Amino acid sequence: MKSRFLVCLDPGHVSDYSQGTRGKRISEAELAWRYATQLHRLLEQRDFPVEMTKRSRNEKVSNQHRAEIANKVGANIFLRLHADARPEPGFAVYYPTRSGRTKEGVIGPPSEVRSLSRRAAFPFHDAMNSVLKGVFPDFGLFGDEKTLVGSQQGALTGSIFARVPVLLIEMGSLSNDRDEDFLLSKKGQQAMLAALVAGVVAAQQTLTDEQANKKPPQNS
Ligand SMILES: [Zn+2]
Repeated sequence: MKSRFLVCLDPGHVSDYSQGTRGKRISEAELAWRYATQLHRLLEQRDFPVEMTKRSRNEKVSNQHRAEIANKVGANIFLRLHADARPEPGFAVYYPTRSGRTKEGVIGPPSEVRSLSRRAAFPFHDAMNSVLKGVFPDFGLFGDEKTLVGSQQGALTGSIFARVPVLLIEMGSLSNDRDEDFLLSKKGQQAMLAALVAGVVAAQQTLTDEQANKKPPQNS
């Protein structure tokens, strides 16, 4: 039987913390919602169960609550879809490398979550890159601490509260006109969605192997 690999999709923004960025043609929240709903459908076609952190495009959900939803549904991976505001083009993947601390003093994620996130991050990023090579640039794979909030807290808020493996994907930069045009084009959407599906498949492979290795030997 195919093992169940539950994906919790988190369309970035609007949150307590930020409205998100804007391009010339679309807001980050709108872009993330469009991609998340399409990715939801594509993953279900491949028999991945999917849960979402938002029920409608304009629903405001705090980053803490988004992580709590992923924890509650027992996601095998918590994928946060965003777009950046930087001059450089390309997609990027972020994962928690260390424990962070919120203003309120909450500490996380625990080391097992960091280790599983790291295990997922590399194959996820590689798989995206193999689909997008020559089509859309790779900005890189980074720890949460390379983000603004992560540099202040040690990890992103959505990572601090996560008790399941978590990755944040900046699908491109909305401050870069070519990235925005790519992400809104039919060809770009197909390529980016295919890259995200490939990332999920690669993460499933790695994390399922990881869990299988931990299982005690079974009799008979
Ligand atoms: Zn964002």
